[in-house]
Amino acid sequence: MRIVLLGAPGAGKGTVAKMLTDFDGSVQISTGDILRNAVKAKTKLGLEAQGYMERGELVPDKLIMDIMEARLQEPDCAKGFILDGFPRTIPQAEDLKVLLAKIGIKLDAVINLDVPKDVILDRLTTRRTCSNPDCQEIYNIKSKPPSPEGKCLKCGSPAVQRADETVEAITQRLETYNEKTAPLAAFYEKEGLLKTIASLSSEEIVAQVKASITK
Ligand code: ADP
Repeated sequence: MRIVLLGAPGAGKGTVAKMLTDFDGSVQISTGDILRNAVKAKTKLGLEAQGYMERGELVPDKLIMDIMEARLQEPDCAKGFILDGFPRTIPQAEDLKVLLAKIGIKLDAVINLDVPKDVILDRLTTRRTCSNPDCQEIYNIKSKPPSPEGKCLKCGSPAVQRADETVEAITQRLETYNEKTAPLAAFYEKEGLLKTIASLSSEEIVAQVKASITK
């Protein structure tokens, strides 16, 4: 499958993307994960992106497009991909359209995860993420806790709160989302690709995505 997952921070894009990769071997491409790994490794990209990310702002479109142009042409994308956190702005969506036409690929669908704001806020403040860059398993202290010592159940690394998960940064991320990313729903509606799913259960969302792309 070749799909884009749209939705506010905390809507469940990462969790749903991971579940979908288990289904047909499509790769999950998360620009947030790519950027966080670059920040940790202190690469040139990471140093450029870090400030924007910690403030909860978007990193410049040009940086993201350079990453994605290379990433989408790597061999593992031949089986399909699930874009999680990209595109995030109208210019990114327009550039993606040009890029996909250039490499001869069509999207199957754009899935919009529609989750109420109070649920989003609660999820973001209770989220913990495995600090091991190769794992990045997602936990929630209420519904899916790590070990009692706060360790990842898969790899044993500490499960931590991200630097952009303070109340200030979360508020900023939600404002940025409403202003810059929410307009993408109308963009993809016009392209005839949009499917909005308003479920709070990841299993239910995955079932609906599968049903919509195998039709
Ligand atoms: P979330 O969806 O939970 O906000 P992500 O992990 O997708 O978090 O992204 C974290 C941060 O990385 C964003 O707040 C932003 O600074 C940056 N980022 C990720 N993807 C993009 C993108 N496509 N365009 C611009 N900035 C991005």
